[in-house]
Amino acid sequence: NGAVPPDNRPRILLMGLRRSGKSSIQKVVFHKMSPNETLFLESTNKVVKSDVNSTSFVQFQIWDFPGQIDFFDSTFDSETIFGGCGALVFVIDAQDDYMEALVRLNVTVSRAFKVNPNIKFEVFIHKVDGLSDDHKIETQRDIHQRATDDLADSGLDGVHLSFYLTSIYDHSIFEAFSKVVQKLIPQLGTLENLLDILISNSCIEKAFLFDVDSKIYIATDSSPVDMQSYELCCDMIDVVIDVSCIYGLKEDGEGTAYDSESSSVIRLNNGTILYLKEVNRHLALVCILREDSFDRQGEPTVPTNSCNLRTP
Ligand code: GDP
Repeated sequence: NGAVPPDNRPRILLMGLRRSGKSSIQKVVFHKMSPNETLFLESTNKVVKSDVNSTSFVQFQIWDFPGQIDFFDSTFDSETIFGGCGALVFVIDAQDDYMEALVRLNVTVSRAFKVNPNIKFEVFIHKVDGLSDDHKIETQRDIHQRATDDLADSGLDGVHLSFYLTSIYDHSIFEAFSKVVQKLIPQLGTLENLLDILISNSCIEKAFLFDVDSKIYIATDSSPVDMQSYELCCDMIDVVIDVSCIYGLKEDGEGTAYDSESSSVIRLNNGTILYLKEVNRHLALVCILREDSFDRQGEPTVPTNSCNLRTP
């Protein structure tokens, strides 16, 4: 439709059957809704397009589709919808029978791939909070197998699907979204390099660059991410923002809770230090380091003899 101005921002589509959890995911990750409140969400029955202008370089849209879309319906303009799409997140309810979802996944991927072969296909095996660890692994294996077999049967062997086990009741949904968003950031390699340089020149053990609003991490250094460290850093952001909201605003209520002076050090009783520093209006660097690498001023030590520079 020529009347619609072109929008070249990377776009994430959120799709899946009705009640699979799409609206809940969007509300929890991007609108700070608490997971329990999602119990009262009305089911999605129209396309909800929401802009997430979370950072200067991540600008994306989430299109929350109602479960049953008829791709052959003339009102469904797949060229426009898939054409400018960076990633398609397909949500499957793992607590329910997922056979129908797999059929929809296949139809959706086939259709989207024809329109735009550059789309990243991301499958969220969702609501896994109700599953035992063994059951989770088995479900993921089964869904992976069936989905890739179905694609091969449709002649689409080359299409790559990525799978994530997610739940809104823990940090897995934020982790999964972080990975999805990172694939859409062209500068990711550079950011990772810079974080590697930072940690090799300081006593920092792990560094994340966070989007403060959504708690998605935009980049991290190349050492492996363990879920616990990520959760600690997410919790730290919540604490800093909450304390700033209560005590940090000016008397007239002006100002924002997060600004260029935002920084914080939290010392845990197991010898770990959490360090947060504002990078820009949307981004924060959140680091984990050991207490003994921390100098008396309470700033992370830049290279010192005790750290990683050896005196000859
Ligand atoms: P939509 O129709 O795909 O948008 O689905 P909704 O977001 O309305 O979610 C349907 C139901 O699933 C709601 O009652 C949610 O509370 C529930 N739900 C969503 N995500 C999760 C999850 O991770 N775990 C569990 N146990 N329930 C979830």
